[in-house]
Amino acid sequence: DRISDGFRSAINKIRMKDDEKSLKKALDELKKNLLKADVHFKTVKELLRKVEIETKKAGIGRANFLKALEEALKEILTAPGNYGFVYASKPPTVVMMTGLQGSGKTTTTAKLAYYLKNFKKKKVLMVAADLQRLAAVEQLRQLAEQNELDIFYDENAKNAVEVAKKGVEEAKNKFYDVVLIDTAGRLAIDEALMNELIEMKKEVDPNEIFYVADSLTGKDAINTAKAFDEKLDITGVILTKYDGDSKGGVALSIAHQVGKPLRFIGTGEKIADLEVFVPDRIVSRIMGAGDIEGLVEKTAAVIDEKEAKKLTKKLKKGQFNYNDFLAQLEQMKKLGSMKNLLGMIPGMGKMLKQLGDIDLENSQEIKKIKAMINSMTKKERENPYLIKESASRRRRIAQGAGLSVQEVNRINKQFQNAAKMAKKFAGKKIPNMDELMKM
Ligand code: GDP
Ligand code: MG
Repeated sequence: DRISDGFRSAINKIRMKDDEKSLKKALDELKKNLLKADVHFKTVKELLRKVEIETKKAGIGRANFLKALEEALKEILTAPGNYGFVYASKPPTVVMMTGLQGSGKTTTTAKLAYYLKNFKKKKVLMVAADLQRLAAVEQLRQLAEQNELDIFYDENAKNAVEVAKKGVEEAKNKFYDVVLIDTAGRLAIDEALMNELIEMKKEVDPNEIFYVADSLTGKDAINTAKAFDEKLDITGVILTKYDGDSKGGVALSIAHQVGKPLRFIGTGEKIADLEVFVPDRIVSRIMGAGDIEGLVEKTAAVIDEKEAKKLTKKLKKGQFNYNDFLAQLEQMKKLGSMKNLLGMIPGMGKMLKQLGDIDLENSQEIKKIKAMINSMTKKERENPYLIKESASRRRRIAQGAGLSVQEVNRINKQFQNAAKMAKKFAGKKIPNMDELMKM
């Protein structure tokens, strides 16, 4: 994505000899790119400080610089608290979803319920405790209906706190694992909203309070998160609309600036467009190595568990073939944006650039890839190397698919590279930087 692109371009420019002048040049390049990506200046400063100290300690050179950068990134992205979704020792796990109006609370409540139900097999109850906007309860009801999720609402309750309390009671009585309370937001922080939330917190004693922040608001997202944290002592941040964020620097700075972990990222309007934020994984993605675990987790909900395991194995062995690719394309329709998903496969970066902003149904590139795969023999689909090694096969496929030979060559080359990268990096949490640099 955008952040990784910035990093990669910085990293590619860094050709450090072992002197201080070249280290300074490298740090300046990094700084320029981070600020351009809208990373908070204090976070940039801290990151550069750490990288400089650690690189000098280990000895100035490219490998040590990259190692230091990787470590510093991980530190910056990690704040004290939980990661992923953490369950209370005694169910139900009670979660309050808070934030400003329009930040994405209601959508994210449904996304989170969907994720926990389908990916983690939990019994989840959503509670409609936004009584400010008339349509708010109806919005959550529709999301519940469309996605087969459970909801609690009470049209006769006198206020939001009462709805929340009753919802948690209901969850206890019916043995739910998780209760997600959707609350009201305002256009800006105001006393009445805060008091309602403080009161609700007292009454329902939540295990988690998530602050849902709109990443499009940039630095304001950080400031309002801080303000909510002061009043409510939030336990985590969820960043929404990351798909529309042109730069993405907020994701890199928010944990460091607020002091609370970034837990999930919303990456689109669809129900499945939610990613668990795990610093190690993000760092490896930033450094350009892909995110196998995230991919498998996402895929697992749609494909059954066995299929997912088979896929990981194949990726690890470098045996990802055209059949798998075609199957993935079909499966991905059920998931969120394919771009996010493909981004998790190591080495798919180049292919993504080609794909641009894909519309699954109408993308020309996808149509070409599908046509090409459909023109392959069974053997060719299973063994991409057959195509690589035979120009006559490629000619035949091009003819069958109605593509030019050049197009077939290009797609095939990208596929080969992706499969090679997948093999190289699959199964490794953190990439070997020397390897990365050799590519
Ligand atoms: P609330 O007022 O905080 O409950 O916000 P809503 O959940 O109603 O969301 C406001 C708008 O943001 C809706 O149109 C959502 O579809 C949209 N939205 C929420 N999360 C995301 C996201 O991750 N990506 C995109 N593109 N849109 C989002
Ligand atoms: Mg709402």
